[in-house]
Amino acid sequence: MADQPTPRRLVIENCAVATVDAGNTRHERGHLVISDGVIEAVGAGPAPAPARGTGEVRRVDAEGHLATPGLVNTHHHFYQWLTRGMATDHNLFDWLVALYPVWARIDEPMVGAAARASLAMMARGGVTTASDHHYIFPRGSGDLLGATIAAGREVGIRLTATRGSMDRGESDGGLPPDFAVESTEEALRATEEAVDTHHDPSFGSMLHIAAAPCSPFSVSTDLMREAAALARRKGVRLHTHGSETVEEEKYCHELFGMGPTEYFETTGWLGEDVWMAHCVHMTDADVAAFARTGTGVAHCPSSNARLAAGIARVPDLLRAGVPVGLGVDGTASNEAGELHTELRNALLVSRLGPHREKALGVDDALRLATMGGARVLGRDREIGSLEPGKLADVVLWRLDGLGHSTIVDPVAALVLGPPAPISLALVGGEPVVEDGRLLTVDEEAVAREARTQARRLADAAP
Ligand SMILES: [Zn+2]
Repeated sequence: MADQPTPRRLVIENCAVATVDAGNTRHERGHLVISDGVIEAVGAGPAPAPARGTGEVRRVDAEGHLATPGLVNTHHHFYQWLTRGMATDHNLFDWLVALYPVWARIDEPMVGAAARASLAMMARGGVTTASDHHYIFPRGSGDLLGATIAAGREVGIRLTATRGSMDRGESDGGLPPDFAVESTEEALRATEEAVDTHHDPSFGSMLHIAAAPCSPFSVSTDLMREAAALARRKGVRLHTHGSETVEEEKYCHELFGMGPTEYFETTGWLGEDVWMAHCVHMTDADVAAFARTGTGVAHCPSSNARLAAGIARVPDLLRAGVPVGLGVDGTASNEAGELHTELRNALLVSRLGPHREKALGVDDALRLATMGGARVLGRDREIGSLEPGKLADVVLWRLDGLGHSTIVDPVAALVLGPPAPISLALVGGEPVVEDGRLLTVDEEAVAREARTQARRLADAAP
């Protein structure tokens, strides 16, 4: 009989556990057993004694910690890491017009460095699955999607890399300058090639590809329709920006004679394989259309505040049954670049709306950042909660230090307190962060390279 490989087991004990399962089960003092990258057991009290012959076991005494599912970031633009802190007093359209000419000079080394930095920053903050929306492909700039994918592999977290696009330049009534857009045919060909080359739909996949034309004001109606058809033919998801600002709403009414959600419906862009960033300006009918079709939302509260976009109706969306996750958004409109800020701001911003103190609670915020995100990215069978059979994407947050030791509820400590130190972050059972340090890449080297590439871009910009 051939030798069986030794199962790789990890036992985590003595910590609070927030499972984010359907009943929001929490254990004040509990355990997790991980075997070959998958959660085998989770529960209250000490871990059950291992069966004979289960091989070597690593034990972690997690006294003073909270275990949660790894965080899921559903919307980002990694390349923007090189243009942070610019146009800080602008609304969306003015900010875009100021930055398009700079962004149109990006190339492969720049995008690689920005993606490594964006991913490293998120991983260091407990993100174990991230999504990138890249939509600017200047002619001759190299393999930008490939650079992003390589960075994901290096940092070691799961990635949904979307192949974005823009084909409606200024001369066609769009917002971006003509030199920043592709032709409709180029965009579709490159999207199809990205799916064929990179998309891995298997259980535990480290890489998904999605089709992601940028927004109604930078993409032709033909490209919207064709991208949706392509994604459905290939069995991949669809992503775009929608209903972000009042200016976008006005633009849609002027150009298409209807609001953004109606426009999305007529172009095949509502469905359970679609997730949309922002969705701030939604009527009751829009919320109902998202709920009816299962269309997901990437809620980006910090970016929405930074660009004076408004407050998304997240409590209404959740009540209607719409899948909602959280997004950092690009770091040119959210310089913090990590997801803790979004958990905290999702709760705080929701309390400023009409629901006041009946808006989001701390468990709701954690759910948005985990199961909510997993649903939005179509991965809720694999990740998003701590349940037997799911992938071991787990974060151990240290809550017995100065910042958190007196906050009575561990989930409140995580959401409302300062960013909690991470003692261990696992992706498929593999440590990516230990004692606050990234194990996969050298943070200092990533920071230096990002700075070098940001300078190159600044020098190339008009
Ligand atoms: Zn965005």
